[in-house]
Amino acid sequence: MGYAQPVALFIEVNIDESACASQPTCRECVQSCPVDILAREPSERVARVVEENVDECILCDLCSVRCPVEAVTVQKLYMTS
Ligand code: SF4
Ligand code: SF4
Repeated sequence: MGYAQPVALFIEVNIDESACASQPTCRECVQSCPVDILAREPSERVARVVEENVDECILCDLCSVRCPVEAVTVQKLYMTS
């Protein structure tokens, strides 16, 4: 009997909206993501996650590192057998 092995990896990108709203002109995460997972138009109060692109995340963490208010979190979620 051994430990359950991780069989699937899901990636979840979240934005703390109240923290992001405190930086109304910021687009650091949008500009740093190499695969267009984050978006923010000038008219948008906060940045948003483009859900259909999340599977393309390369887990580089640039979005969270570059955010001036630590509003972006990237989580790796494993499903075990
Ligand atoms: S970890 Fe990298 S690839 Fe993933 S959302 Fe952030 S910047 Fe984009
Ligand atoms: S880097 Fe942070 S504050 Fe700037 S748009 Fe992205 S989530 Fe908002």
